[in-house]
Amino acid sequence: MLEKDYVQKTLELESVLKTVTKKHVTILIHNNPDGDAIASSLALSLWLEQKGFNVKIISSNNFSEIYMWLPNVLNILVFDIPLLRSTIVDHINKSELFFYLDFNYKDRFNKELYSLIKQKETKLCIIDHHPTTPDENIFECIDTSSTSTCEILYSLFQNSKESSITPEIAMCLYIGILTDTGKFMTPNVTAKTHFTVANMLQKYNIDISQVNKNIYGSNHLSRMHFLGYILQSKLHIISGYKVAYINISFTEISRFHLKPGDTDGIVNYALSLKDIIFAAMFNEKKDGVYISLRSIGDIAVNDFAAKYFNGGGHKNAAGGISLEPLDVTIKKFISLIKKNDIYKA
Ligand code: 5GP
Ligand code: MN
Repeated sequence: MLEKDYVQKTLELESVLKTVTKKHVTILIHNNPDGDAIASSLALSLWLEQKGFNVKIISSNNFSEIYMWLPNVLNILVFDIPLLRSTIVDHINKSELFFYLDFNYKDRFNKELYSLIKQKETKLCIIDHHPTTPDENIFECIDTSSTSTCEILYSLFQNSKESSITPEIAMCLYIGILTDTGKFMTPNVTAKTHFTVANMLQKYNIDISQVNKNIYGSNHLSRMHFLGYILQSKLHIISGYKVAYINISFTEISRFHLKPGDTDGIVNYALSLKDIIFAAMFNEKKDGVYISLRSIGDIAVNDFAAKYFNGGGHKNAAGGISLEPLDVTIKKFISLIKKNDIYKA
């Protein structure tokens, strides 16, 4: 999206905000929220609070504790926690405006939560960098050329004449860009991304070494032991193919006392193997097998996830879910790989 389009989008967003009579706003983030989902929702909540809104962020399930130090984090209410239910329902009932941040599919959050929101006459705003088809929502800012929802928000906020970017907001936005680009390494990182970040660092004095320590240097010992076990025993190459995968069962997760977010990024170890162009991680949970896919170059894993595993995402980083048992899911994956010569070694 061009700079002039962002100028227009900021005007649009601010005029939508002026139509809201009740001051309650709800921000929804996707299941198993990642750094971009969390940091973008916090940044938006801080920005909206400057405008006098009462904002709550709702996550379907719990998230990694590496984000617990972020500003406004206590405003993220987890739907899975029974104690928070009544506060969530109350806030939803008072809200006139809803945001979907970092996702656009209705099935990427708790079904019960979705039906609660659906029951209301809602004004929906979507800010995202995943592909979608335009809908009849009151506001949409979808920029698939952007690395992250946080990068989109930075462009939107910069154009505002009414609210400013504070150092806290800038730090959140930096974190979303940092995490969604795997530390500026994904193929969607452009000169614009670096200019944006350089501009943020110059203006807002972000302590990047402290931020990086908090995000990437806060592993607990059992996660490291788990990682060692996975690399030793659960990382496989499909013989004769440029494809590797990791399978993690529910009992393994319990055995290592893993916490939410602890398996994030582990799929990248499979992709880091020499000659591997397609990597998958199968993570068995109570409600299904969660699948993370990563690729190099022209292999479009979002299409693969959408076609076979009810999912989506970006060309080189996508995910989905399987409702079949772990072993059946992996057999299906291997046979899909073996059907296509592009994966041959
Ligand atoms: P991850 O593997 O880190 O969970 O997800 C990688 C990318 O795929 C992210 O951009 C994420 O938003 C997307 N993704 C993950 N799971 C799903 C899913 O079930 N549905 C869709 N549409 N996208 C997903
Ligand atoms: Mn994102």
